[in-house]
Amino acid sequence: MDIIFYHPTFDTAYWLKSLSAALPGARVREWKRGDNQPADYALVWHPPVEMLQGRELKAVFALGAGVDSILSKLKAHPEMLPEHIPLFRLEDTGMGQQMQEYAVSQVLHWFRRFDDYHLLKQQSQWEPLAEYSRESFTIGILGAGVLGSKVAEALAPWGFPLRCWSRNRKQYPGVESFAGKDELPSFLKGTRVLINLLPNTAETVGIINSELLNQLDDESYVMNLARGVHLVEHDLLAALDNGKLKGAMLDVYSSEPLPKESPLWAHPRVGMTPHIAAVTRPSEAVAYIARTISQLEAGKTVTGQVDRQRGY
Ligand code: NAP
Repeated sequence: MDIIFYHPTFDTAYWLKSLSAALPGARVREWKRGDNQPADYALVWHPPVEMLQGRELKAVFALGAGVDSILSKLKAHPEMLPEHIPLFRLEDTGMGQQMQEYAVSQVLHWFRRFDDYHLLKQQSQWEPLAEYSRESFTIGILGAGVLGSKVAEALAPWGFPLRCWSRNRKQYPGVESFAGKDELPSFLKGTRVLINLLPNTAETVGIINSELLNQLDDESYVMNLARGVHLVEHDLLAALDNGKLKGAMLDVYSSEPLPKESPLWAHPRVGMTPHIAAVTRPSEAVAYIARTISQLEAGKTVTGQVDRQRGY
């Protein structure tokens, strides 16, 4: 079996070595321009068109959870990956735990009013504030897939009311499930903390806009952990400034790296991280890909295949 690998920033030597160890008998090579030799599988991130075009691959693996960048490239270059070649993505591979850490720590930060105490400290002010009530600190998770469900699982023991929104109804213990566009308003009504873990698709671009934000509880919080295109940054800033929102924690932005002139940097109620909420953990990703390839070779059913029409 021949596997070709291409990632613009990963440690290629590590990947080639550990994939070879995890799939004994497989010949794994880095793809370089001009390489037209046959291959069975391709592992890619931002692949050049010529890497995939014209190849009769058994499958392609995207080396991340989100496949928006590869799908948008496919729109412009459908010849790169004909429909009959399945595209897989990484499911969890350590990202679930990182999202759990991020979301739980930030929810507790807001719930214990550390944001307010941080601002009071800057004014040298000693001022014990009223406690928030757990019962009215409802957390709503947009997107209830691999990562959204993990975040819900980690928040459950803390006792906040939990709800999620997805296309299909879910049955997660202790989580109220809302499904489809029609149920979005009831999901938003009463939500105090909104956590976004949707994929980037035609239907979800710009979903967190003033119309949506206005349906949340007053003094709500927004955490965007998915993609910058989901959030209309101008609407977020307006909602922060008019008091509808109390705070925001952002990991992803409409433009990355975020330009120096963005007003988000200086906003006192905006916390920021540079797209690190959950990164691909190489050893777990290698184990996942090796297992999936072995299952495919054995003719078994596997999960993680991207539905290109749906967009995720
Ligand atoms: P996933 O398993 O595919 O889950 C996506 C969820 O969104 C599913 O529950 C799906 O509903 C729901 N959904 C999709 N379109 C919808 C729509 N139009 N209306 C309502 N619900 C919709 O994806 P994942 O692995 O959890 O990853 C989610 C996203 O996180 C990725 O696409 C990526 O962009 C982002 N991400 C960010 C980072 C970071 O570092 N910031 C790291 C990893 C991933 P159904 O379940 O009903 O299909």
